[in-house]
Formats: sequence, C-alpha cells, structure tokens
Amino acid sequence: MPAAPDLRLAASLDQPGLKAWLQETDPASLNELWACADAVRRAQVGDEVHLRGLIEVSSHCIRHCLYCGLRAPSEGLERYRMNAGEILECAREAVRLGYGSVVLQGGEDPGLTQDFITEVVRAIKRDTPLAVTLSLGERSDADLQAWREAGADRYLLRFETSDPVLYRRIHPSLPGTLSDRFAQLARMRDMGYEIGTGVMVGIPGQTWDTLAGDILRFREFDMDMIGVGPFLPSPRTPLGRPEAEAFFAPPEAQVPNDELTTLKVVALTRLVCPEANIPSTTALATLDRAQGRELALMRGANVVMPNVTPVSYRARYEIYPGKACINETALACQGCLEGRIRSLGRSLAKGPGGRLKADCKN
Ligand code: SAM
Ligand code: SF4
Repeated sequence: MPAAPDLRLAASLDQPGLKAWLQETDPASLNELWACADAVRRAQVGDEVHLRGLIEVSSHCIRHCLYCGLRAPSEGLERYRMNAGEILECAREAVRLGYGSVVLQGGEDPGLTQDFITEVVRAIKRDTPLAVTLSLGERSDADLQAWREAGADRYLLRFETSDPVLYRRIHPSLPGTLSDRFAQLARMRDMGYEIGTGVMVGIPGQTWDTLAGDILRFREFDMDMIGVGPFLPSPRTPLGRPEAEAFFAPPEAQVPNDELTTLKVVALTRLVCPEANIPSTTALATLDRAQGRELALMRGANVVMPNVTPVSYRARYEIYPGKACINETALACQGCLEGRIRSLGRSLAKGPGGRLKADCKN
C-alpha cells in the first residue's frame, strides 16, 4: 500500500472526513479509496472469500418496518415457514457445496418458537460441522440465550440507521415494546455471540451526516460482521410508494440509493473496521447484476452469502422485487459465484470463517 494515500486516508476517517469521502466524486481520489480498502482487506482478512449458505426460513413477520416487503401488513404474499426437516436438508446441501456456515434468516415470526429454533440449531450442530448464524429479528433474551446454548455462533441484526428520529419513523413500535437494536446487539455480545449489523444505503430520510455516523457506530461497537446494501423500494411498502416523498431529506442532504455510494460505504467500512467480515450483498447484486458482487469484493468485502433456500420458497421471500438469483438452484448459484470469485484471483475459504482477531490470528 503506498504510504502517502494511506496516511491521508487514515487521518480523514472522522465524521467530517467520512462525510467528505461519501460525497467524493473525483475519479483519482476514488481510485485511491478503492485501492486502500482492497489493500487493507488483503492485509487483514486475506484473499479468501467465505461462503455462507443463506436459508430463508420464514416469510411471516409481525413487524411493520416501512421499507420491507415482508412487513405484516403486506397483502398478497403467499407466506411460508420451513419445517425442521427442510431446514436441516438445506444445511446438508450447504455442507455438500463446501460451505462452512449457514445463516438462518426470517421475518420476526413468533411461529419460530424458542423450542423450534433450539431443536433446529442443535440438529445442525449435531449433524454437520457448520457454524450457525441466526438473523430472526428482535427476540427476547430468553430466546437468544437458549439458542446460544444450543450452539448458535453468530447473530445478525442491522441497526439500519443511527439516527434515532429516522429509526423511530421507519420502525413503528409494536404495542408495549421499545425497539432498541443497539441494546440487543450489546446483550448478544455478552452472551458470546459474534455480532453482525449493517445499514441500508439511501433509505428515504438518510442524510450524508447520519450515514457517516452509521460508519462510526460500526467502529465504536467493533462489529464482527457488517452488511451494507442499497435500499431497494418495494411497492408493497410505504417507502416504495409515492407517500415516501414525505420522508426524503432535502436533495442536497439525501443519500442516493445507488451503487457508487454503497461501494463507498463498503470501502470506508473496511478502513474503519479492518478485521470485520463484510459481505458483498444480494441487494447490491440486484442493483447491478453484471458486476455488483465483484465490485464489492474488489472494494473491501470478503464474504458472499449464496442462497440455499429451496427454489419453491425463494420468490415468496420478497423483501424487494427482482431479487438476484431467485430462480437458481443452490448448485447453480455455487457454480456461478465460484467462477466470479476465481475470476478476481481470489480463493474460496474452507471452514466456519469466524472473525479473525489481530491478537488470535491463526
Ligand atoms: N427480520 C430480520 C431483521 O429485520 O433483522 C431479518 C430479515 S430482514 C428481511 C433482513 C434485512 O433486509 C434487513 O435488516 C434490511 O436491512 C433488509 N431489507 C429489508 N427491506 C429492504 C429493502 N427494501 N431494500 C434493501 N434491503 C432491505
Ligand atoms: Fe420483518 Fe425484518 Fe422485514 Fe422488518 S426487516 S418487516 S423485521 S422481515
């Protein structure tokens, strides 16, 4: 890594500096950012790309997040919940495909009871060598503790925005509850989970200042995994319909939901959290099918999450329309992704792929 840009970049990663980088348009400066993020990625987490099999276990959800097609009020969705045997079969498929971990993701679904997920996690840990990540929304400490004791290794919960006012606007509370994702993330870390979080880029109402603040929160919380993807409007949701106009910040302050800004966030996140596992997200691949995945991998990312959900369920997990890889089998997805990764001169990682801490790298 050349010393001069490195020093200049390192010195500029405070709030005003991050904001300036997010708004940077000069191609030479951006090339410097991309090169620096790629060099830090190589030095800290290496050239291997970790593959995590994504299992979309349920499309039921009790929440009303204003951006998500799975929100409870969404009508016309054919909802599903996979049974334990189906989930276990997906995990076995992930093993056959050579993946080191699976992510069980779903809506916030009370039908995924504490006992059900406990049994599923136990079975996966008993029958496979996989690391298990859960991403099932805001759950009680009793649920989270039981799942951790059953063997779950990691939990993903994006905080979506560090602006508390915007957070409350886009996450209507459920009666009698107070949503505090930072608090849940802290409690999960205390329980021994590796914790993952992230934000959408370009959500209506997100400003350059708050996005810079989001990146600083990644560093402050020393997150183990950080997922960043563009906001993709769904016509099933208030933020995907004309009424979203009322949410937008003034044009000079509003962050666009485009590829370039998302890639800048990926690169800056790598610089402020050098050891984190950072996925190249499906949302970015949806925005740019030709090369979205590759560009993120070249600008700081080191993880891809191929979908291993049975094809019959995939289209029904409609967070936003037009999701990439919706009709490909797990095997086809694997073939395509492996080719893309190798074409970048990168290799496929083996094993669970937990966070490498500087003091315990092996
Ligand atoms: N229910 C769990 C939760 O909310 O954490 C996990 C499933 S949720 C669908 C996973 C992520 O999808 C959310 O954290 C959010 O960032 C992302 N997402 C939801 N709607 C989206 C949209 N319209 N565009 C892009 N990403 C979206
Ligand atoms: Fe439910 Fe998660 Fe979608 Fe919110 S983001 S509506 S919690 S699935």
